[in-house]
Amino acid sequence: MPIIVIMTGITIAIASGKGGTGKTFISTNLFNSLQDSRLSIALVDCDAEAPNDREFLKEGVLQSSHAVNQKIPVIDKTKCTYCGKCDEYCNFNAIFFLEEPQTIEVLEDLCHGCGACSVACEYGAISEKDDLLGYVNRYRFSTGKELIEGRMEVGVLVSVGIIKESIKMAEPFDLVLLDSPPGTGCPFIQTVYKSDYVVLVTEPTPFGLSDLKQSVAILKEMGIPCGVIINRADMGTDDAQNYLKRENIPLLMSVPFDKEIAVAYSKGEMITNLSTEWKAKFNQLYHTIKEEFEKNKAK
Ligand code: SF4
Ligand code: SF4
Repeated sequence: MPIIVIMTGITIAIASGKGGTGKTFISTNLFNSLQDSRLSIALVDCDAEAPNDREFLKEGVLQSSHAVNQKIPVIDKTKCTYCGKCDEYCNFNAIFFLEEPQTIEVLEDLCHGCGACSVACEYGAISEKDDLLGYVNRYRFSTGKELIEGRMEVGVLVSVGIIKESIKMAEPFDLVLLDSPPGTGCPFIQTVYKSDYVVLVTEPTPFGLSDLKQSVAILKEMGIPCGVIINRADMGTDDAQNYLKRENIPLLMSVPFDKEIAVAYSKGEMITNLSTEWKAKFNQLYHTIKEEFEKNKAK
């Protein structure tokens, strides 16, 4: 009987514990270096507060832009018995409730649209309304690859709903690259939690190392394998490298400070378009990540 090998899609998140480490540089150039690949590939810009992958990947043509709404509870005070159950169920302190004097309000800015309060209310006092969170924009390249961009509406505080929807749009692709929001809060967790592998981008400074350790600890807790890229690797200490050796975390690539890269980045240009050497390095990076992913799968 023939053995059928089913290849499933791979999702790789590119993340960093702090902003300004070069995460966008890595994400966009990795995506760009794979334009000739036969795989269907999507890069998802999950930094919905300030998406900027499009600034570098200008050739893609806008295919669609759809609104993302979340359900916000609306309390009918004529039906409300002021039992307080909805307040107890809300994990985000988004319901302001006082027993005496009887007061109840939904704090819409804090609401995550989880629906727990509607489930909790036994008196039919809660209905829901749509609240615009932002948009998911899809840009297609002549190679069939796509940039999917989550973009929050001005004034919206919680980006998780947009990130979720943006990642969902990338499900049919063979290879999904997620450009994660910086930090280690909810938007980062939402981006990485279904990833097969996370690439952490850091810089060789004490701040960089401290944030790297925090990101690694969270990913360990979540059971997601990771490797590290050190950007501007020749401009700081060896502490990050020593930490990776001690913790047995693979160093996927080191990027030295390079004037050509800095100039290209400041002009919104891709180093993988300007230099065949860098295109080959980013191609190699993809293969290194894939090998590490396979190694972890085999464990
Ligand atoms: S939908 Fe969720 S977050 Fe919003 S008020 Fe209800 S329980 Fe709280
Ligand atoms: S659970 Fe329903 S009835 Fe109770 S306080 Fe909330 S809205 Fe009012």
